[in-house]
Amino acid sequence: MNIYSGPVFDMARTQFHSIADHLDIPADERDRLLYPKRAIAVSCPVHRDDGRLAVYQGFRVQHHLTLGPTKGGTRFAPSVDIGEVAALAVWMSWKCALAGLPYGGAKGGVTVDPYSLSLRELEGLSRRYMQEMIPFVGPHTDVMAPDMGTNEQVMAWFMDTYSMYQGQTVTEIVTGKPVATGGTLGRREATGRGVAYLVERAMDRLGLPMTGATAIVQGFGNVGSVTAAALAARGAKVLGVADHTACYFDPKGLDVPALLRHAAVAGKLAGFSNELAFDPAALLEQPCDILVPAAMERVIDGATAQRLQCRVLAEGANGPTTPDADAVLQLRPEIFVIPDILCNAGGVIVSYFEWIQDLQQFFWDEAEVNDRLYRALQRAFVQVLDRAAREKVSNRTAAMAIGVAKVRDAKRVRGLFP
Ligand code: GLU
Repeated sequence: MNIYSGPVFDMARTQFHSIADHLDIPADERDRLLYPKRAIAVSCPVHRDDGRLAVYQGFRVQHHLTLGPTKGGTRFAPSVDIGEVAALAVWMSWKCALAGLPYGGAKGGVTVDPYSLSLRELEGLSRRYMQEMIPFVGPHTDVMAPDMGTNEQVMAWFMDTYSMYQGQTVTEIVTGKPVATGGTLGRREATGRGVAYLVERAMDRLGLPMTGATAIVQGFGNVGSVTAAALAARGAKVLGVADHTACYFDPKGLDVPALLRHAAVAGKLAGFSNELAFDPAALLEQPCDILVPAAMERVIDGATAQRLQCRVLAEGANGPTTPDADAVLQLRPEIFVIPDILCNAGGVIVSYFEWIQDLQQFFWDEAEVNDRLYRALQRAFVQVLDRAAREKVSNRTAAMAIGVAKVRDAKRVRGLFP
């Protein structure tokens, strides 16, 4: 037992130990690689609109600083606790290393339902959270970004709060900002575009055409909605979508542009249609070519994995597939898994582009951002597939082995201080 213990961190630890076994990492080196460098817990008092004072718990976990600053999103969700945040920080480390970014992993969060707050309350909470974190973050220490329940506006408030305390504008303190405040073109769409790009690479490998391929997307936030649009733009037929408010399915294919228009106005899927409503528990198990879990972690367990009827499992979310499910998928080679740390890496890759553009105050056009994004993903995809073939392991094992080995090598050559 330690402060991180819980279902999500236990999952990250189980995954890490299976990779450490594969890489023959001695027992005494493992804790140094797995356990976070720092974990910060803060209380964020906020005036509610009704005059009451509410206090929200906030966290930030910085996994390792071996390769450069830590990097990762900030999640506002009721499920947030320090164990979940730590697991997400560990996954960010392997993700950044796999993508070749000069970062360690971090993650932050506040235990709150952001949809229960007014805009004014959300601003108050965002500013107070950043203010509490000022002693622990910095453009060369730890750089935040959006995650579930946060968005460009929250990043603008974070950047403004940090800047007001510094007495100068420090755009490079967060990524995923609005373009008007030092954000990069293409960051908002980057994760979903990356998912669709990698799906197409996977379909190529399987010899399956994208045109007419069927897809199901769970999650309709920034990642899921852009993924659905990008898959449709590549010719796929999106049969099913879901968010935390509704689930829709149509064997003839959903009208993705209409869903996007509805979600842009309503802020959620609920209210789109009565006829197309579908059981969310059954969505992932419907037959399709491309299945994209793009919401929460641990939605595919061993039993669900047995019932999957897809050809490509593209993990837009972080940690959607449990180690039990992985064991099942090992025995189902007909399913091509694009593991999370590869599949959703487009977001942090373009965050890195945003950070370097801010540091240089030299901005790129969107075509350059997308071109560099796709090249970075292609490099990582080829590395993962080559390693999986060479070592006869799953794509997840190969991806994580590349990430863990890079961090381990850097720690070894840097040595232990003092
Ligand atoms: N929250 C995103 C992720 O999980 C993006 C992190 C970032 O851009 O720093 O990868």
